[in-house]
Amino acid sequence: MTTADTQVQSRARLVLGNWKMHGSLAENAALLAALRAADDAVQGRIGVCVPFPYLAQAQQALQGSAVAWGAQDVSAHAKGAYTGEVSAAMLAEFGCRWALVGHSERRTLHGETDRAVADKAAAALAAGLVPVVCVGESLAEREGGDTLGIIQRQLEPVLALGADALARMVLAYEPVWAIGTGRTATPEQAQEVHRAIRVTLDGLGAGQVQVLYGGSVKAANAASLFAMPDIDGALVGGASLVAEEFLRIAAA
Ligand code: PEP
Repeated sequence: MTTADTQVQSRARLVLGNWKMHGSLAENAALLAALRAADDAVQGRIGVCVPFPYLAQAQQALQGSAVAWGAQDVSAHAKGAYTGEVSAAMLAEFGCRWALVGHSERRTLHGETDRAVADKAAAALAAGLVPVVCVGESLAEREGGDTLGIIQRQLEPVLALGADALARMVLAYEPVWAIGTGRTATPEQAQEVHRAIRVTLDGLGAGQVQVLYGGSVKAANAASLFAMPDIDGALVGGASLVAEEFLRIAAA
C-alpha cells in the first residue's frame, strides 16, 4: 500500500474507465500501451477498472505511469468460503487503487442492496483501496419525480460510515437510463443531483469528496458536463474501450 492509496481524496479531476466484461490480452495490451504513452499529456488523474483476470496485465503495463488501475467489484468479506468472490486485500496485492462498488449492473443483475454496497465500500477502505460508490435512479424513478429520494436512500448506509471514511471514497452518480444507452443526462440534470449530493456531503463535513458523473460520457459531451461546478470527473463505460476517445474525455 502506498501513501497515495490511503490519502484523503481531493476534488481534482478524475476520469475512470469501466471496461465492464470486455477485452482480451491482445486488445488490452494495445489499449494500455496507448494510455501509458499519453499519460504525460493528461491533466488530472485517470484510471481504468478492468476485469479481475486482467489486473496483473494492467499492473505490468501501467506501473510507474500516471494511469492507475482498479477493479469493478470487491467482496464485502475479508476471506473465507465465498466461491467466486475476490477480496479487497487480493486487489491491493495487484496494485489496485480503486474498486467500483454498487454499479447499477451489479445492483440490477446481482441483487446488490444498499447495505451490501456499503459493506463492500468498508471492505475496500479497510484494505487501503478507494471505493467508487455508484448510485443512480432508473427511468421510472426519474419520471416519478423521485430521483433525489432514491439517491439519498442508496447513499444512506454509505454516509453512515462517517466523514473519515467518506473522505477516502469517490462517489459516482450514474443515472441508470443513461448507462450504455447513448442518452446522457444534460449537464443541468446531472448538476442538480451532484449539487444535492454535495450539500449532503458538506453537511457531514465531507465536502471534498469527488463526485463523478457516469452515463454515456463521450469526448463530445464531456466538456459541458465538466463545466458544472459539482461534477468532478467521469466514470466512462463504452468510450473507455477506445484509447483516443477516452483520452479526449480526460483532456476535455
Ligand atoms: C458505466 O459503465 O459506468 C457507464 C457509465 O457506461 P457508459 O459510459 O457506456 O454509459
